[in-house]
Amino acid sequence: MGVRDDAEAIAPEMVELRRAIHREPEIGLDLPGTQRKVLAALDGLPLEISLGTALSSVTAVLRGDGAALGGDAGGPVVLLRGDMDALPVTERTGLDYASQTAGVMHACGHDLHTAMLAGAARLLAARRRELPGTVVFMFQPGEEGHAGARYMISEGVLDAAGQRPVAAYALHVASAEWPAGVFSTRPGPMLAAAEVLAVTVHGHGGHGSEPHHAADPIPAACEMVTALQTLVTRRFDVFDPVVITVGSFHAGTTDNVIPDDAAFLATVRSFSPEARQRVRESALALVGGIAAAHGLTVSAEFRDGYPVTVNDEAETRFAASVVAGLLGEERCLAQANPMTGAEDFSFVLEQVPGAFLMLGACPPGADPATAPNNHAGDAVFDDSVLATGAALYTELALQRLAFS
Ligand SMILES: [Zn+2]
Ligand SMILES: [Zn+2]
Repeated sequence: MGVRDDAEAIAPEMVELRRAIHREPEIGLDLPGTQRKVLAALDGLPLEISLGTALSSVTAVLRGDGAALGGDAGGPVVLLRGDMDALPVTERTGLDYASQTAGVMHACGHDLHTAMLAGAARLLAARRRELPGTVVFMFQPGEEGHAGARYMISEGVLDAAGQRPVAAYALHVASAEWPAGVFSTRPGPMLAAAEVLAVTVHGHGGHGSEPHHAADPIPAACEMVTALQTLVTRRFDVFDPVVITVGSFHAGTTDNVIPDDAAFLATVRSFSPEARQRVRESALALVGGIAAAHGLTVSAEFRDGYPVTVNDEAETRFAASVVAGLLGEERCLAQANPMTGAEDFSFVLEQVPGAFLMLGACPPGADPATAPNNHAGDAVFDDSVLATGAALYTELALQRLAFS
C-alpha cells in the first residue's frame, strides 16, 4: 500500500487524537496535557524521545535502517515540525468536540498539526527499514507569540539527531481561503516578520485648564500614531511593504487632568530583513524626534519579534513537486504574495533550508472565501485533511532523504 492509503488507514486514530487535543486546549509554552497525549500517541514506536525543560516540547528522532546503505553514519536528517498550542479565544463552533476550557480554543488548527505529525511518525516508523536517513519530529508549544521554536532551538532540537537537518518542513491549516486538501506555498518570503513597538511618551501632568504649566504627552503621542502611517507610505517601497497598526493606546483618567504619560503598542510587519531593520530604526527615530520637538521624552522599543518566514527556493520547488506527485498538480497552488501573519518556524528556517506550506481545511459546505478565518471563535477545521497532511509529511521526509 502507498503512503496515502496507509495515512487513510490511520485517519480514525488521528481524528481521535486531534479531537482529544481540541477538547482540552492549552496556551503558551506549558502544555502538559497536550504533551501527555502526544507521548501516548507515540508510545511503542522506535523513537528517541526527549522532552523540553523551558517548555513542554516533545522531540522524537527516528533513525532509519536504510541509512547504513549510504555509508554516512545515520544518513542525512530531515526535520518535520508541528505546533501544539491554542489561543485565548472563546469557542463558538458548537461542535461536539468543542473546547471544554472557557476562553481557550484551538482556533489556529494546531491540534491538527499535532495529530498529523504524530500520524507521520507512525507512517515513517512503519517504513523504518527502507528509510535512508533520520527524521526529527518537532512537537512545539508556544507558537502564538511565545517563540516556542526559539526555545526548542536553544534546547538543541536542530542537533537532536547528532547532525544538522538538510531540510525542515512545516504545514499550517487554514479554515478559510483555500478548499480542503489544497496546498499553497511560495519561494522566498512566505510570512511577515512581526514585532511589537512599545512606546511611552513621558510628559508632566497638570490641570487641563492650564496646559502651559504641564507637559502634555497626549497630543505628541497622537502625532506619533499618524506620523507612523506617513512613515510607511513615504519611506518604504510599496513592493517591499511594511504594515504598522497601533492596536492599543492608553493615557489619562478624566477630562480635566493632563496625565504624566501616554503609551501605545503597535504591531509592525515587514517582508524582508532590510525593511525590518529599516522600520525598526526609522520608527524609533521618528517617535524620538516628535517627543523632542515638543520638549518631551519617550521610551520606545521593539520586542517579541518573529523574523520573516523565508522559504528556500529549491526546498519549496521540491515540496510542491511532492504534493503534485502525491495528490496531483492542481493540489498545490503557487501563492502570489506572502501572508501578513507571522510564524516562529522562521527561526528554524533561519538555520535550515526548508519550506512552510499552507493546507486548506475549510469544512465541506462552507465557502473558503467567506468561512470564518483562523483565530475566529467560529473557525472550523475539517478532519478530512489529517490524512492528507500526514501523508505529505511522510512523503517529504522519504523523498528528501532519498535525494540526499
Ligand atoms: Zn495562529
Ligand atoms: Zn498557527
